[in-house]
Amino acid sequence: MRALCWEGVDDLRVTEVPDPEVVNPRDVVLRVSLSSACGSDLHILNGYLPTMREGDVIGHEFMGEVAEVGRKVEDVSVGDRVVVPSFVGCGNCAYCADDLWSLCDNTNPNASLQEPVLGDATAGIYGYTHAFGGYAGSHAEYVRVPHADTNCFHVPDELDDQQALFASDAWPTGYMGADFCDIEDGDVVAVWGCGGVGLMAQESAALMGAERVIAIDRLPERLAMAEEHAGAETIDYTEVDVVDELKRRTGGRGPDACIDAVGMEAHGTGVAHAYDRAKQRLRLHTDRGEALRQAMRACRKGGTLSVLGVYGVMDKFPLGVAVNKGLTVRTAQQHGQRYVPQLLDHVAEGEMDPSYLATHELPLAESPEGYDLFKHKEDGCVRPVFRP
Ligand SMILES: [Zn+2]
Ligand SMILES: [Zn+2]
Repeated sequence: MRALCWEGVDDLRVTEVPDPEVVNPRDVVLRVSLSSACGSDLHILNGYLPTMREGDVIGHEFMGEVAEVGRKVEDVSVGDRVVVPSFVGCGNCAYCADDLWSLCDNTNPNASLQEPVLGDATAGIYGYTHAFGGYAGSHAEYVRVPHADTNCFHVPDELDDQQALFASDAWPTGYMGADFCDIEDGDVVAVWGCGGVGLMAQESAALMGAERVIAIDRLPERLAMAEEHAGAETIDYTEVDVVDELKRRTGGRGPDACIDAVGMEAHGTGVAHAYDRAKQRLRLHTDRGEALRQAMRACRKGGTLSVLGVYGVMDKFPLGVAVNKGLTVRTAQQHGQRYVPQLLDHVAEGEMDPSYLATHELPLAESPEGYDLFKHKEDGCVRPVFRP
């Protein structure tokens, strides 16, 4: 089959790779119908994430039609149209039982690559380094989905592919970030970043009852989307001091909750020496941490800081700001399986429709060009999606 492979820094190519197979009786193989690029992929492109190997298939946000079913799969059949969260859950461990899906204890066969850095290992993820399990990604004609009964969610017939696709990764991540804020009537929620995850966090916060949502970015077309779809007020961070401006707009108090949807994934997670090597190559370190530091300073005393950006092992994290202001800090990689059913309900009931994130739809053959548009944020690109 054809797939988009990482062949080195800034080198993505569509090549022939072996077809995936059912290797465990609980697997299915999915014929991919749509697969989206994600902001966190850019750090793979830029070579900041260790433990990628040449020829690895990337992509972790996808949906498709079931093509082959293992003999112990019960709830999914050939021909079913499903969307799949980016983190693989086993459905049986204590973490999965607690709805903490990205912490699953059983789906990362390469846990030893993360433990020296994190002390523990995360769940596995598709197409996202060997430290995150080494699973083949979704920018391909077919992808293997383990623990299919746990990880495949049926898409209602009335939803089209683009309406369901983002329930895989961008939307549950943003939705979880808003959920972490325990939003009450009258709350002001500020969100740093208007990429796919940031826009989803803004719209979800509005849906959960935030009185005001304030979106922070620099790209006019993305700020316009925040205004249109989330009803957000906007701040262009290149034009004002963000902390001063947020205080000014909230009577000197600061937002009740601040969501960081920018992140500093560049540090990634992997063996310590690989991390050090990657860190030496980093040029954007200070800038990237700035969104989080701004959020901490801007947030009202006793407020909530919700961190969605995929951070590595960040230095210069001003913990004293959180301590002295009594902030509640909440963070996680996305626990998609907790949220997907309610997200699909929100679309079916017309309460939210994330399909506008897919600004560019391209055939798989043109996916390298799609990543180029995405990386350089050209032509108003928020998310390029690929139809194999
Ligand atoms: Zn992602
Ligand atoms: Zn588990």
